[in-house]
Amino acid sequence: MAHNKHHKQLVFTVKDRCRVCFTCVRECPVKAIKIINGQAEVLSERCIGCGNCVRVCRQEAKVYLQQISEVNELLKSGQRTVACLAPSFPAEFTEIEDYRILVGMVKKLGFELVTEVAFGADMVSVAYKKLYHQQDSKGIINSDCPAIVYYVEHYLPELVDHLAPLVSPMVASSRFLKKKYGDDLQVVFIGPCVAKKAESDEIDYALTFAELRQLFQQHQIKADESLACDFNPPFAAKGAIFPVSHGLLQNMDIEADITKGDVVVAEGRVNVKDALNEFSQGALNARHLELLCCEGCIMGPGMSEEGKKYLRRSCISNYVANKLENFDQQQWEKDMKLAETVDLSTSFEQMDRRTQIPTSAAIAEVLKSMGKNDPGDYLDCGACGYDTCVEHAIAIVQGLAETEMCLPYTIEKLHQSIEKVNHSNQELATAREALKQSEKLAHMGQLSAGIAHELNNPLGVITMYSNLLLDDVADDTTRSDLQLIVEQTDRCRKIVGGLLNFARKNQVRLQETDLEKFVQQSIKSIIHPKNIAIELSVEMKDPFVFLDADQMMQVLTNLEKNAVEAMPEGGKLSISLAEKPDDVIIAISDTGTGISKENMEKVFTPFFTTKEVGKGTGLGLPLCYGIVKMHKGKIDVNSNTDPEKGHTGTTFTIRLPRNPS
Ligand code: ADP
Ligand code: MG
Repeated sequence: MAHNKHHKQLVFTVKDRCRVCFTCVRECPVKAIKIINGQAEVLSERCIGCGNCVRVCRQEAKVYLQQISEVNELLKSGQRTVACLAPSFPAEFTEIEDYRILVGMVKKLGFELVTEVAFGADMVSVAYKKLYHQQDSKGIINSDCPAIVYYVEHYLPELVDHLAPLVSPMVASSRFLKKKYGDDLQVVFIGPCVAKKAESDEIDYALTFAELRQLFQQHQIKADESLACDFNPPFAAKGAIFPVSHGLLQNMDIEADITKGDVVVAEGRVNVKDALNEFSQGALNARHLELLCCEGCIMGPGMSEEGKKYLRRSCISNYVANKLENFDQQQWEKDMKLAETVDLSTSFEQMDRRTQIPTSAAIAEVLKSMGKNDPGDYLDCGACGYDTCVEHAIAIVQGLAETEMCLPYTIEKLHQSIEKVNHSNQELATAREALKQSEKLAHMGQLSAGIAHELNNPLGVITMYSNLLLDDVADDTTRSDLQLIVEQTDRCRKIVGGLLNFARKNQVRLQETDLEKFVQQSIKSIIHPKNIAIELSVEMKDPFVFLDADQMMQVLTNLEKNAVEAMPEGGKLSISLAEKPDDVIIAISDTGTGISKENMEKVFTPFFTTKEVGKGTGLGLPLCYGIVKMHKGKIDVNSNTDPEKGHTGTTFTIRLPRNPS
C-alpha cells in the first residue's frame, strides 16, 4: 500500500543549541521528546512529525529532515521530474505577486513539470463527499493530514477504522500525474508540512517551502529575473482553498452542515486531541471530522516563520478567486474525467505505541523523590513541560523525563547545595588556617634546628668559663656581674633547648601506653603550689593507646605548667580522660585568667608569650601542636576571660587516635 509503515526520523535535536527550556516537551502532543542528562531527544518511534517542536523552539535546536541534496541529485540525473506545489504556496510566497513567476522559478531549478496539488484536493473532495453521503456513515476522520493519521494509528488505534480510506491530495496528484504523464515520472512534493516527508512511498521526496527557498538561493534564482510560466495541467478548481481551515468542507459543499452538528472541525494539537478523545468515548455523534494538526496547513512548520495567519488566509482566497475567474472549465472537466479512473483508496493499520501507565506505587515513589508527598504538594506548574506533576512522574517512570526538570524541586535542591557549599567554604577556611600554622611551624623547625645547633656549643662555653671565673673572683661587683652573665646564659640555653625540642619532633616512636598511668606520671613531674588542687577524672574502659611517650610527656607537662602559671592566686587544675570508638580525648582545664580573644589566635605561634621576660619562651604550645599533629591528633583551645560569663579559665582538648600508625 501507499502508506509508509516504518517512517523515518523526521525531527532531530541540535544538542549544542538546546537550552533545555522544555518548551518542546510541552508542545509535543504525543510526548515523543525524552529528556536525558538534561538534553532533549526526539524519539522517532513516538514522533508523529507534526513539527510543533520545530516551530516553537526559539533556539532553533529542533530541525527536520532535510532533503535538498537528494533533490539536487535527482534534478541532475536527467530523469523526468515533476514538482507538485501544495495549495498553500500563495500564503508562503506573498512577495511574488504573479504566481506564474514562482512557477517559472521552480522550472528553472530543472523540473520538467510544475503542477498544483490542489487538483488532487479536487479529486479527493469528490470521494469525501461520496463517503459523507453514504447512509450508514459511522463517523469519518479525514486522513489527508499525515500527522493526524500517525496519531490515530499509534495512539488511538481503535479509531483506525474511522480514518477515511482515501489517499491525501498529494498522493492523489501523484497517482494522477503518473497516469497522465507516465509511470517513470519522479514526484517531488513541495509544501508546508514535515510529516509529509514520511507519508508515502509514492512520492520520491517531500520538501518544505523553507527548503524550496534554500534551493532558490543555492541556484541563485530570483523572482525579478524569472519568466512567468503557467502550471502544467491539471489545473485545480476549488481544491486550491484546501489549506485554510474548513477548506476540505468548502470543497465538499458541506460547510453548512457544521451547524447541524454532523461535522466537527478541530485544529491545533490541543483541540484535535480533545475532539478525537471525545469521539473515541462516543461523546461525539459526528459523521465527518475534519482535523488538522496545524491551524490549517498555512501555519505548517515548513512555512517561513514570521507569517501572519489571516494575511495568509486572504492570500489563498485571493488566489482562488482570481483563478476561478479565468478558469479553463473544459480542461478541468477533461482531467476530472481521467481522474475518475484513478484509484484513491488506501488503508491504515493499528500500530499501538501507547506506553503502559506505571503502577500508582511507582508514580508515588517518584513524586516522593521530588519532595511531593501528597496532592497538596503537587503544584502542576507546568515548568517541566508536563501539564501535571503526576504526568511528569509517569514520564519519569517511563524513562522519558528526569526529576531535575521539576523547577520547584531543583530550586529547593539548589538552596541545599548552596548551604552545603557555604559549609564547605567554612571548613576550607579553617583547614587553610591550620595549614598556614603547620607551614609556619615547619619553617620554624628548620630554622630553629640550625640556630639551636650553632648556639648550643658557644653557650656551653660561656657558661663554663663564667662559672670558672666566678670561682676565681673575690670582688663583689664583678661577682654579681658574672652571676648575671651565668643567669642570662642559662636563659639562652633554655630557649635553645626549647628550639631543639621543637626541631627534633619530626618522628614519633609509638609505644602502647596506659594513658591513665601516663597522665598521673605527668602530674607528679610538675611543681605546683599548695593553693592549686589537681583533679583527674577518667571515663575509659580501655586505657591503652599508642603514643610516643617522651614527646607526649612534653605536651602534658607543658599544658599543665601553663595551667599552673595561669593561676597565680590558686585554683583547680582538672584533667579528664574520655574515649570514642577510635580516639581518646584528654582535656586539661584550669580556673585561671583565661586567654583574651585577640590572643587566642596567637597562642600556637612560636615565641608568642605574655609572660615576663625570663619566664616564658613562647615555644610550649607550638611544640604541643606539632607533637599532637605528628600523632595525627587535634588540639583545640577554649577559654573565658569574662567573669560575667561564668568562671574564667582555659581548657585545652587533645583528641588522639588510639593507634595513629
Ligand atoms: P609560654 O608558656 O612560654 O608563654 P606557651 O607557648 O606555652 O609559651 O604559651 C603561650 C601563651 O599562651 C602564654 O604566654 C599565655 O599567654 C597563653 N597561655 C597558654 N596556656 C594558657 C593557660 N592555661 N591559661 C592562660 N593563658 C595561657
Ligand atoms: Mg608554656
